[in-house]
Amino acid sequence: MTEKRIAAIIVAAGTGSRSGLEYPKQYVPLGGRAVIAYSYESLASHAEIDTVIVAIGEDQEDMARAALAPVTGAPQLITGGATRRASVKAALDWLQQSGGADYVLIHDAARPFLPHDVIDTLIDALDTHQGAIPTLPVTDTLVRGEQGIVADMVKRDGLFQVQTPQAFHFETIYTAHTQVSSDAIITDDAGLMRALDISVALVQGDSMLEKLTYPADFARAEAMLSEARIPRVGTGYDVHRLVEGKALWLCGVEIAHSHGLSGHSDADVAIHALVDALLGALADGDIGTHFPPGDPQWKGTASSRFLEFARDRVAARGGEIANIDLSIICEEPKIGPHKEAMRIRLAALLCIPVDRISIKATTTERLGFTGRKEGIAAQAVATLLMQSL
Ligand code: MG
Repeated sequence: MTEKRIAAIIVAAGTGSRSGLEYPKQYVPLGGRAVIAYSYESLASHAEIDTVIVAIGEDQEDMARAALAPVTGAPQLITGGATRRASVKAALDWLQQSGGADYVLIHDAARPFLPHDVIDTLIDALDTHQGAIPTLPVTDTLVRGEQGIVADMVKRDGLFQVQTPQAFHFETIYTAHTQVSSDAIITDDAGLMRALDISVALVQGDSMLEKLTYPADFARAEAMLSEARIPRVGTGYDVHRLVEGKALWLCGVEIAHSHGLSGHSDADVAIHALVDALLGALADGDIGTHFPPGDPQWKGTASSRFLEFARDRVAARGGEIANIDLSIICEEPKIGPHKEAMRIRLAALLCIPVDRISIKATTTERLGFTGRKEGIAAQAVATLLMQSL
């Protein structure tokens, strides 16, 4: 059997008016990253899915690119339509023009937490069915109400709540979108299949796939994410040479001294070690990867800029800086009198409380290059709290 070409579409063109938020709910930050980034990452990281297309609203391109930047380089964005159905159709048209697919999964951006198990089950079901949808049995009692009172009880036997992604043979769902009148009152893709009397399999959904609609849904998701954070630790080390006639910068603070540090930037050795610790915790290269030392644009740059960059990389990945521990190794100058100013400066640059920042100093008993006052070394450890989902 040849390998199937599988595409996924995320429908993210809504304006989210029911969420009570100022901007579309797929872009609302949740645990430090946008709602849409979670399901995008789940689909894009699934071994069997080749392409992920995101159908966005008009004028949402900048928001979408910013939201997806932490998880992808260049997402395939297409402009959706005025309705969910029109947005899906636009994505299917794009897919058709790009060579089609065997299977396609269609997912709502407002369901951020998409387990790979559900994707596996849906894909398996397409071996024997033209379509498959994840569902959960209805467990609450259901009633029909009229004018504020119970009119009658509804039997819940055989009733299911429908989730997404919904999975289909591409040709079949494309035909359904093309043939079924757009006047038909159909709220999802499985409905279009049923309108053509094509059978759609029910597979096991997941309570994690709950749709975020109201403010309380977002609050619940945020609480769940904060419990699911894991620590990540990074370390950094740097050395710069002491020379005459240069200003001495350490931790973003200028220190009066007979010598300063030489380097391409302002040579703030402590900040450089700290930047490497933050990037290390993210597994995101090092300071030289992002700011090549030969690059003339960084000549004489205040190293605070590098630190702000690293801080933003942490935030973009949904991380929070739990603590920083920094050691400055030198014979001179004395660091003690400057420690508090350094902590306050780093706290301001990193936007974290001062009590998360430790600055220590040591000499090397006049041994080695630091002992001979030829240079200053710094080492840093950073702990991040990151989403494990
Ligand atoms: Mg350096």
